[in-house]
Amino acid sequence: MSEEVRNVVIIGGGPAGYTAAIYAARAAAKPLLIEGWEPGGQLMTTTEIENFPGFENAITGPELMNQMRGQAVRVGADFMTDAVESVDLSQRPFRIKTSSGEVIAKTLIVATGAKAKWLGIDSEQKFMGRGVSACATCDGCFYREKVVAVVGGGDTACEEAIYLTNHATKVYLIHRRDELRASKIMADRLLANKKVEPVWFSVVDEILGDDAGVTGLRVKDIRDDSTKDLQVDGVFMAIGHKPMTDFLGGQLELSPAGNIITRPDSTATNVKGVFAAGDVQDEVFRQAITAAGTGCMAAIEATRLLEEDD
Ligand code: NDP
Repeated sequence: MSEEVRNVVIIGGGPAGYTAAIYAARAAAKPLLIEGWEPGGQLMTTTEIENFPGFENAITGPELMNQMRGQAVRVGADFMTDAVESVDLSQRPFRIKTSSGEVIAKTLIVATGAKAKWLGIDSEQKFMGRGVSACATCDGCFYREKVVAVVGGGDTACEEAIYLTNHATKVYLIHRRDELRASKIMADRLLANKKVEPVWFSVVDEILGDDAGVTGLRVKDIRDDSTKDLQVDGVFMAIGHKPMTDFLGGQLELSPAGNIITRPDSTATNVKGVFAAGDVQDEVFRQAITAAGTGCMAAIEATRLLEEDD
């Protein structure tokens, strides 16, 4: 029995993957998108998105992802919900091993995105799911009339902190500098919020708690190493993201930050026929719209290569 060889396989169901699927489907390449067990990517845990063009009024992350996915389905992309375990990129066509079998692809677009980073301290692990979280939209409702802390100073930290003020009475923002990395609009919005108290030049030394969960936070002032305890009921980590590349087994070149390296003005990787798009490849912009843009580029480059093959 001959094995089916797909023209374009896309790994990753976020804005990059969905956009690649839309473009590849419209180029009649009949793409297959393997979207993992939690389709939609990071935007599924985002609240309102005000900076994705085309929506006069804010749209939620899940709504935007459902629209993109639906559009990809409508134009003819195939979907598979499965986890990619490993890939063999040693020769074309490539072999992609999933938890339920194998897929063979003439071209591959890696759009697996990035996952939230953790501090890596023991107490964080100990209280995971019992007061420690990396998703305010998922867990914020448990902190009605309580006090919480958000760790980080980027857009995610600001967004999470602002969202948490809808539930909590007070939100500490623990940041290791006294200047936010977040965009100005987000930083201004955060600092104007009376329920938010920034704790500058500080890092988490220890998460404190008992059998019931988190009760406090020991923070260290990095200027003089002094520590102080804050009473909090929950801690939300928002310290950035790690590109999802483990399944590649070192077959694609990565940057020191762990992103897949692509050629200038291209999504082509060091392996001919493999393209990378979105947060897994982009360590600079990391926006839904730039992920969609590189997803589009990847599909165009993949379908051009297929034409050259013929
Ligand atoms: P970022 O990398 O932008 O920010 C991470 C923050 O965590 C930084 O303030 C960093 O501090 C801090 N940090 C990192 N490691 C540690 C550590 N070990 N201990 C303490 N603090 C630490 O990540 P984000 O997730 O915030 O954002 C990722 C991208 O997504 C960005 O491009 C952002 O603009 C975008 N985004 C956009 C949104 C929107 O427009 N609505 C919403 C959310 C994200 P330092 O600043 O000192 O390095």
